[in-house]
Amino acid sequence: MNPNVVSEDYLLLQKGIMEEQSKIKERIEAELQLEIKKDDLNLDIPVLPQLPSTPVPANLYKEAVITISTFLKDQSKEIEDSLIQVVSDLKDEQLVDWVKASIKFDTEYFHNFAQNNALAPWLPHFIAEQAIRPFLQLISSKCVSFIQDVHVMGTCPCCGEPPRLAKLENKGQKILYCPRCETQWEQKRLSCVHCGNDNHENLFYIGVQEDETSKIEVCKSCRNYIKLIDTKKTFLKKQAGLLDLETLHLDFVAQEEGYGDESH
Ligand SMILES: [Zn+2]
Ligand SMILES: [Zn+2]
Repeated sequence: MNPNVVSEDYLLLQKGIMEEQSKIKERIEAELQLEIKKDDLNLDIPVLPQLPSTPVPANLYKEAVITISTFLKDQSKEIEDSLIQVVSDLKDEQLVDWVKASIKFDTEYFHNFAQNNALAPWLPHFIAEQAIRPFLQLISSKCVSFIQDVHVMGTCPCCGEPPRLAKLENKGQKILYCPRCETQWEQKRLSCVHCGNDNHENLFYIGVQEDETSKIEVCKSCRNYIKLIDTKKTFLKKQAGLLDLETLHLDFVAQEEGYGDESH
């Protein structure tokens, strides 16, 4: 199993993971006393890195890691049998490291962990990331009332992830939608979220045949892009993670044309 190759099986697996994440979120919501006040925050940087104490307690995170690992193991025979034992043996200090490393997207930390525990190189980071998302989504849900006042250039105002997805809503508003934490925030329709350029002549669009609901918006200035999904045409309210997966073909097109982070 390689998460870089998108197949029907991979989509199904991801949908299964999202169901597990919803259950984890319900469980931690009941236990986690989390209060985030706008007045305590610097509104020029994302919320997550400035929270005073960790919003991800080791015991709850460990439960999430085991839940995701067990689900993956049940779905795929290619995953090492030792996985469940390895994650069950994680000590509190290691769990704290996992949380920090997944927030910082520290690929090297997880590669070393994989090597030291004879696991596939992609597996620990993938599990760590999937297990932290319910916590990030919960943090995001506590910031809804003021997230529009957080002005961060080029990242999600809640978790700091680079934006890659936006919805076009009824009145033409452009709502950015983070697949990692599910935060939604409105942005000026004709400006680039990555570099702030608001000269509309600098934006152009690439559509894909047989896909009337989504297209790629590219910025000529920074050569980065986002995927725009016209929700007037899809009707259904879908999670950002699902929309992101369902539009992976657009990422392939954009990257083939040389747009996005890799082209910098
Ligand atoms: Zn986010
Ligand atoms: Zn730009």
